[in-house]
Amino acid sequence: MDDYKLLIDLHKDAYRQGPGGDAETELALNLAMINRAEPLKIADIGCGTGASTILLARLLNARITAVDFLQDFLDVLEKRAEETGVGDRISSLARSMDDLPFADEELDVIWSEGAIYNIGFETGITEWRRFLKAGGLLVASEITWLTDSRPEELQEYWNSEYPEIDVASAKIRILEKHGFSPVGYFVLPEHCWLDEYYRPMQARFEEFLNRNGNSKEAREIVNAEQHEIDLYETYKSHISYGVYIAKKAGIER
Ligand code: SAH
Repeated sequence: MDDYKLLIDLHKDAYRQGPGGDAETELALNLAMINRAEPLKIADIGCGTGASTILLARLLNARITAVDFLQDFLDVLEKRAEETGVGDRISSLARSMDDLPFADEELDVIWSEGAIYNIGFETGITEWRRFLKAGGLLVASEITWLTDSRPEELQEYWNSEYPEIDVASAKIRILEKHGFSPVGYFVLPEHCWLDEYYRPMQARFEEFLNRNGNSKEAREIVNAEQHEIDLYETYKSHISYGVYIAKKAGIER
């Protein structure tokens, strides 16, 4: 995918391709009250290079399908999974998240960190719902307003980047509207943005620009990322990722 060449180049050496953290992945697992001994079938959708996939494989008795539409990220994930000793529990699938091949009620858990926005939260949860067994769990992180009103500069930026951005109560309402029972919600703390995502990215900027001959396209990507970072640092009391944990409503068999 040529359009994505530069973005892949900037992000593929990262541990995470979005805000998050191992402790927060595990917190979501605990809030979901997932039985760690039970054999489970899980899809990690928009898995990137697999930070959450590999952690889940280590912590659970699960078979995990790692889905991302960028094979370059999946290649890194597979290598890491082998190195961590969980390669046999993970299979990767290069596929778009709006065209998934799972059967109805095939999955116990759908996991998705920092990725569902690519098709939109409401579209994602409605399209993915049928893959879950009744009582199955959805864990998805989604960019979320932390306050009811926001400074105009921040509001305008995110309205154009992702018009579906909203407060947690609105996201939870969407889950309820589409047949999910909310089980838990928490907000990713600042270190998930700065220490786990933005600072490591900034540390890669210089080499990224050098590798790509300081091209206009590469500089534009760095400038756009830096602008997002600056906005986050200025307005972080208004915005974060919310982690939404919800159970598919229905009669459990
Ligand atoms: N979950 C990972 C990656 C988050 S970044 C983490 O938290 O580190 C979002 C990921 O979604 C990227 O890896 C990107 O390649 C993937 N993605 C974007 N659009 C997609 C689509 N339509 N189908 C599948 N994956 C997609």
